[in-house]
Amino acid sequence: MIDLHVHTTSSDGTLTADEVVALAGAIGLRAIAVTDHDTVAGVCEAKQAGERIGLEVVSGVEISAQSDRGILHVLGYFVQPDHPELIETLDSLRQGREERTPKILTKLRGLRVAVSLEEVNEEAAGGVPGRPHIARVLKRKNYVGTLQEAFDRYLKRGAAAYVQKRKLQPDEALRIIRAAGGIPVMAHPYSLLGRGASALEALIKRLIPLGLLGIEAYYPKHTPEQTELFLELARKHGLLISGGTDFHGANKPDIELGVIPGHSPLPYSLLERLKEAREQEKEILELFAN
Ligand code: AMP
Ligand code: ZN
Ligand code: FE
Ligand code: FE
Repeated sequence: MIDLHVHTTSSDGTLTADEVVALAGAIGLRAIAVTDHDTVAGVCEAKQAGERIGLEVVSGVEISAQSDRGILHVLGYFVQPDHPELIETLDSLRQGREERTPKILTKLRGLRVAVSLEEVNEEAAGGVPGRPHIARVLKRKNYVGTLQEAFDRYLKRGAAAYVQKRKLQPDEALRIIRAAGGIPVMAHPYSLLGRGASALEALIKRLIPLGLLGIEAYYPKHTPEQTELFLELARKHGLLISGGTDFHGANKPDIELGVIPGHSPLPYSLLERLKEAREQEKEILELFAN
């Protein structure tokens, strides 16, 4: 009934906020969270569309942070889309992306692969440019057969045209989300399992004092054992539990909105717990303000 991890054309999804909301309504979801990379630009449109059809839209964002243990993506639920410091931080992250794209294209040219900035921007269609947009151009121009091949041959970390983008430190990502009234949740923790479960647990223990409040235990790529592990870590460390598909439309063709094999429909109660936590947060903030 809910999907708390959804991308739109404001970042690297292929459906607009309106289209995602319409799809969510059509498949009978009750709520979605719009969690674009480094932007809240799709949130307002999605909320308005949601109101028209009676679908709850949670304001969200997904911020990448630099971690020594792999990719740390932090979801921020309920962030205020007009929070000045959040907007400033996201602007500077997008600036970093914009500086990265030409560097990737230069590396590609060195490999005799011709992709222009115009082609990438066209693919991003006003959204935040990212590697998936470059991958789509590579596929369209037949340099690769699939989007995955584009990542494996050129774009993934360690590949020939990889360029790192500026990332926040974990404490900065968590702090800005909390400052903007959001609940920070560790996204798709399987991507942090590279050094094993105890390393992930150590990371979680380090992030909780910095403001982490939840973990995305339900995710299409998690094996049943992994899901169990993440639920256990949540219980042990008092973290909230979230779940979502990371829907990107045609940029992740194997992912369907609202579908987490073995666990969907996800119960609305997960979102209720998150909302309760946000209310508590607000009360605490107000106490400090007075
Ligand atoms: P960017 O934000 O530009 O670094 O691109 C991140 C997006 O690229 C992620 O949301 C994924 O959808 C996709 N991505 C990253 N790494 C890979 C990979 N190794 N294979 C396929 N897709 C990837
Ligand atoms: Zn993405
Ligand atoms: Fe992510
Ligand atoms: Fe995502």
